[in-house]
Parts: sequence; C-alpha cells; structure tokens
Amino acid sequence: DVTRYREEIRRGVLAATGLLALILVGVFSTAFLVVRRGVVQLREAQEQLEKLASIDPLTGVFNRGEILNRARKEASRLRRAMNQSPEQAIALVMIDIDRFKTINDRHGHLVGDTVLRQVVRRIKIELRDYDLFGRYGGEEFLVVLPGTDAPAAVAVAERMRRAVGETPFDVDGRNLPVTISLGVAVLAGDILDLTGTLQRADEALYRAKSTGRDRVCRAAEADRDPEETQP
Ligand code: GH3
Ligand code: MG
Ligand code: MG
Repeated sequence: DVTRYREEIRRGVLAATGLLALILVGVFSTAFLVVRRGVVQLREAQEQLEKLASIDPLTGVFNRGEILNRARKEASRLRRAMNQSPEQAIALVMIDIDRFKTINDRHGHLVGDTVLRQVVRRIKIELRDYDLFGRYGGEEFLVVLPGTDAPAAVAVAERMRRAVGETPFDVDGRNLPVTISLGVAVLAGDILDLTGTLQRADEALYRAKSTGRDRVCRAAEADRDPEETQP
C-alpha cells in the first residue's frame, strides 16, 4: 500500500513550493524596495545638481548662465509670437548696487554679503512670479520682465529703486543706507536681439551711474529720446 507515501510526498512538495514562493516574494519585495530607494536618491541627487548648476548660492536667484539661458528662451518665444501680436515686448532691467565697494571696505565682506541678500529680497517683492531674476555679476543683477513695454518697465524699475533705497538696511545692528542704479531696455518691434538689448540696458545703467546714481535710466530707442526718472 503506497497511498500513505504518496500523501506524504504530496505534502512535502506542497510545503517546499510554499516555502519557495515565500522566499521569492521576500527576495522580490526587498529588491523592489532597494531599487525604489535608489531611484528616489538618484532623483534627489539630480535635482540637487540642477539647482547647483543654475542657482547663485549666496542670493538664491538664478546665476548668470541660467538667467541668460532663460532670457534667450523668452526672446525666441517673443520672435515666434511676433506675427500674431506685434505689440508684444520683453523688458530687461540691469541693476547695480551703488558704491558697494565702500560698504565692503567699511563694514567687511560678510556685511556686504548680507546686504546683497537683503537687496535681492526687497527687489523680489516687486516682481511677478513669471518675471526672471538673476545675479549677473558680483553686485549686478538682471531682471527679465516678459510682456512688459518700456514705460511699464520703467515703473517697475522705479518701484525696485524705492524698495531698496527708501529704508536703510539693518545688518547686525548697523543702519546702512543702500541705493541702486538701474538701466532699462526692451525687446520689441524690430529690435529683438538679446545681446544688443543687454548692451543697451548696460549703457542705460552706465548713464544712471554717471548722472548721479540712485536712479532709473531708459535706453535710447532708435526713434526716441531717453527718458529718465530721478529720486
Ligand atoms: P558703483 O556705484 O560705481 O557701482 O561703485 P561700486 O563700488 O559698487 O562698484 P565696483 O564695481 O567698483 O565694486 C563692486 C564691488 O562689489 C567690488 C567687489 O569687491 C564687490 N563684490 C562683488 N561680489 C561680491 C560678493 O559676493 N560679496 C561681497 N561682499 N562683495 C562683492
Ligand atoms: Mg556697484
Ligand atoms: Mg558693478
């Protein structure tokens, strides 16, 4: 009579299969968890790298490369949209802190760094969430205002000038008056090249400096006289 043995073998096979299935489930879920954690870590590392490559660590705004890339994209979007709505414009505002070297010399580099951060914070408040803001150089910043013509941009620049200059900064108990000079130029009509417009914004900024600082100057358009606002 082999029925008894047959039953024992059947149970043995069943137990072995069950055990094997259990081991497989364990192995696969562990592998799944490990892979998933790896993917999350990889994604976090990638985000961190992208941030490092595009953000200025001191002020938290875009670095020079990133603000220029984004401005370039906005400019080509404007060129494409020009056929449908030719009245569109993008404004560039070049900003430079006045006599910043003196702040560093008098109060030290660390205070200078804090002033840089606080200037950025005050300017940011005046911007819309789709405006672009970047550190262009040491204490020089570039703001890109999509959908903004020259008069509107001058008004925004004027608000930024007041936001920085009207109230002195409080750094470690020191009361520091800080002002900025701003140059405005727009991409519009048949002036659509970014490099040329950046240059005109820079020239306007230079004019703001040479005529006394703490002011907004607007680039001379081909057919228009420069307009200026003063404190
Ligand atoms: P102006 O009104 O003509 O712009 O005078 P300025 O002194 O601001 O101009 P200048 O370009 O001569 O000086 C800029 C100074 O900014 C010099 C440099 O030491 C300082 N600077 C640049 N980057 C940083 C920074 O990251 N931190 C600090 N604390 N200072 C910086
Ligand atoms: Mg300066
Ligand atoms: Mg400068």
